[in-house]
Amino acid sequence: MRIKRLDITGFKSFMERSVFTFDDGVTGIVGPNGCGKSNVVDSIRWVMGEQSAKNLRGRGMEDVIFNGSESKPPLSMAEVSLTFHVDETDTLPVHLSGLPEVTVTRRLFRSGESEYLINKTICRLLDITELFLGTGVGTKAYSIIEQGRVGLIVSSKPEDRRNLIEEAAGVTKYKSRRKAAERK
Ligand code: ATP
Ligand code: MG
Repeated sequence: MRIKRLDITGFKSFMERSVFTFDDGVTGIVGPNGCGKSNVVDSIRWVMGEQSAKNLRGRGMEDVIFNGSESKPPLSMAEVSLTFHVDETDTLPVHLSGLPEVTVTRRLFRSGESEYLINKTICRLLDITELFLGTGVGTKAYSIIEQGRVGLIVSSKPEDRRNLIEEAAGVTKYKSRRKAAERK
């Protein structure tokens, strides 16, 4: 799976709809301090199911919704969509197999209500998490290495480092399914 497009509306400093496209090769995001570079990374983490506001540099989850500026009033909803190009070697759930791309969407309303969608169809958070398990993509995987993460990996506890290696090897998917089966 490869990130193709990111579509952000009302998320943190992105009041207006902003669309980023990612081509083959390396994409760099540059700009002055405070212009929203890290917010782009936060939005990717968020749409893939991040549940910790702290990991998104906020106090509560509502902090991801645009909270206004000197000239603009706060918005009542944040929405992020992330589109992946699907490779032939990717194994997707049956209902998505054969599709050239898959789009995950997350919405959060100030009322606290939230929605997750895969290809514009409402789904559970679990469906999103499962979609990414074993792909290296996902909130706890290694496809997003932000500032300070390299040092953290090197100095992490052996079990934590093992989790990362197991995700890279594609083992986590089966471990998580086994756990779910044991709970039933
Ligand atoms: P640096 O180069 O210093 O790392 P950056 O480009 O990564 O900067 P970000 O941390 O992405 O910058 O963006 C910070 C800006 O986002 C701040 O101006 C902050 O006010 C704004 N911001 C964060 N959350 C919201 C929100 N909910 N509503 C409006 N603006 C927000
Ligand atoms: Mg930053």
